[in-house]
Amino acid sequence: MAAPTVLEIALPTPLRRRFDYLPPEGVDTALLKPGQRVRVPFGNQRLIGLILRVKSESSLPLQNLRPAEALLDTAPLLPDELWRLCLWAADYYQHPIGDALHTALPVLLRQGEPDREKGEPYWQLTTEGKGLPEGALKRAPRQAELLAALQQRGALNRADLAALGVARSHVKTLEDKGLVYSREQVLTPPPEPKILRDTPLSLSDEQATALARIPENGFHISLLDGTTGSGKTEIYLQAIARTLTQGRQALVLVPEIGLTPQTLARFQRRFAQPVVALHSGMNDRERLDAWLQARDGRARIVIGTRSAIFTPMANLGILIVDEEHDSSFKQQDGFRYSARDLAALRAHRLGIPLILGSATPSLESLHNARTGRYDYLRLTQRAGNARPPELLTQDIRRQTLDEGFSPETLERIRATLESGNQVLVFLNRRGYAPTLECPDCGWLAECRHCDTRLTLHQTPRHLHCHHCDHQRAVPRSCPSCKSTRLQPLGQGTERSEEALQRHFPDTRVLRVDRDSTRQKNAFRDLVEEVHRGDPCILVGTQMLAKGHHFADVTLVVILDSDAGLFSTDFRGPERMGQLLLQVAGRAGRADKPGQVIIQTHHAEHPLVRTLLERGYHAFAELILSERRLTGLPPFRHMALIRAESKRPENAVAFLKQVRALAEQRHPPGHELGYLGPLPAMLEKRGDRFRYQLQVNAANRGALQKLLSQLAPEMEQHALAKRNRWSIDVDPQDMG
Ligand code: ADP
Ligand code: ZN
Ligand code: ZN
Repeated sequence: MAAPTVLEIALPTPLRRRFDYLPPEGVDTALLKPGQRVRVPFGNQRLIGLILRVKSESSLPLQNLRPAEALLDTAPLLPDELWRLCLWAADYYQHPIGDALHTALPVLLRQGEPDREKGEPYWQLTTEGKGLPEGALKRAPRQAELLAALQQRGALNRADLAALGVARSHVKTLEDKGLVYSREQVLTPPPEPKILRDTPLSLSDEQATALARIPENGFHISLLDGTTGSGKTEIYLQAIARTLTQGRQALVLVPEIGLTPQTLARFQRRFAQPVVALHSGMNDRERLDAWLQARDGRARIVIGTRSAIFTPMANLGILIVDEEHDSSFKQQDGFRYSARDLAALRAHRLGIPLILGSATPSLESLHNARTGRYDYLRLTQRAGNARPPELLTQDIRRQTLDEGFSPETLERIRATLESGNQVLVFLNRRGYAPTLECPDCGWLAECRHCDTRLTLHQTPRHLHCHHCDHQRAVPRSCPSCKSTRLQPLGQGTERSEEALQRHFPDTRVLRVDRDSTRQKNAFRDLVEEVHRGDPCILVGTQMLAKGHHFADVTLVVILDSDAGLFSTDFRGPERMGQLLLQVAGRAGRADKPGQVIIQTHHAEHPLVRTLLERGYHAFAELILSERRLTGLPPFRHMALIRAESKRPENAVAFLKQVRALAEQRHPPGHELGYLGPLPAMLEKRGDRFRYQLQVNAANRGALQKLLSQLAPEMEQHALAKRNRWSIDVDPQDMG
């Protein structure tokens, strides 16, 4: 008897397991390959899984295995290179393989949709329709006209129907009568021989030197470090042009917020070749179509956010990660991969160049550049004739502030508006005020589900927890002492907007935050209004910090820059510096010089002084030397094991046991160190108590080995069921 065929399948379940099935009945087993999708029964549901292995035995008795129901693909979905990358990533980030693979696929493919593009419908006559005598349907002239057109031209598409003035209802009637049927076809435009649409800019010496150092082929990572406006994007465009000339494709990753129509339009203006985007604003069908165009090689340039790192590319020739320091490249829940780090691996395996660009590179990347792992390219001048903005600190310790604004700041805003320019006010807190306070007894509005205060919102008026989404009406009197003098405490964007409008009643004040841009196109409309160039004040959160070029903004005000300085997250200061400079970079992009006012209570803090007096690089050096001393990344590698439970003792007990297991495997020392369990920064969130165990390691290998042993043991552990737990490798957010 021939050996049986068993399919080892990855299913989207939270279990760290692979599942064995028999092949679907009636399917030639020679057609079964890893990477194809199958539909299988699972309990009483149906799931879509991916074949990991086709093998001839199972650890379970064969008669216990159920057959898969259907094979969905004739060929593996992903090219081998990407398939291996996904498997590697599931392993490295300690995530269950089925869920990791599902995360990497477009939604429609997860649901079993065929891996084919949706075509354009077109209509033809059925045999019966063809057989109609001349002059039929005389009493329905529109239908008769349509029939005649079909008889003449064979097939009509949507545009043809519109040109004929035929309504869809007429087509439908003929379809119902069985005279007409519709088909779909994918229209593939013939390949465009031209690479460029627009002439490239002639590069500055600095840009030319940088571009010349980026090889056209072969594995190579460049860290392109240049202030906002120094012409990094122009270098990407020219590097991509070389790749396209070789007949290869480019994949560009940008942070979520940076993927504006502006970015896309800039690429489309430059290249005559098809450019497609992949981002969260697209519907599932659009995403799948773009994905397929990339896989089948018709899309030549793909621009996308984090998950676009998993785009299959027929012939990838260059990878680019813009704003590489941005924390959105690390997924913060579920499959916690870093798209930037996977880009480095993908480039290595494909033997192609990767450009990491930023005005404020991550300390990891700067460290890699310093140790020679990355080639370090610097652009120090702004392109064209733009000058860098002037940074001014304002010590607000002994000043009376007017709703967060110092008198001098208000004066400068006035002068800027009077000279016909625009102002950007940055405050990274949405809502009206961070909380509501009773001045009589000190009561503060707190979330009853979290260790945090409720934010006061004015439009519509309510109290809102930004951590668990709990919402409440605003009390009329103090719940504790009945005082009726409750008042907002601190500043949020709504309140700053109100204050600015009061000071400058004749000026447009535009608020940009998650609340004001909830509606489709709201953000785009706001940005368009600013681009018209009339004097206005923009006030908003970090949505304003990235990606946008506001040519007429000549004054940037940073209201409260201090939050990151004393954060318990060791990345707090790094993020603060990056955010400050990113915001500052919005000013004076064009030929208008910009000014940045930074209001701070800590003008004398060494990090603040270093950043403002000596710049980002000195600032980064200072933080790096502290990290070296304290044994933090990038000098040591880290993983966080998190657990949360309704009862704090469950989380603590579980993590203690995990630590004991880990120490048995690998005693603490230089190679591996353990810290915790410790409460998370926000200890209670949504009624759950959150704890974490930190594992740090001298090298990735030791960390990986330990985690791979621990993960299955944790899953089996009796206490695991009482907790939600996860492993975060190379965590970016320590909360
Ligand atoms: P970055 O990506 O570093 O922010 P960009 O590439 O967007 O910088 O360049 C900033 C501005 O300067 C853009 O308007 C761009 O068109 C212009 N620019 C870039 N390089 C040159 C150049 N070599 N000559 C003239 N203008 C340039
Ligand atoms: Zn009170
Ligand atoms: Zn809450």
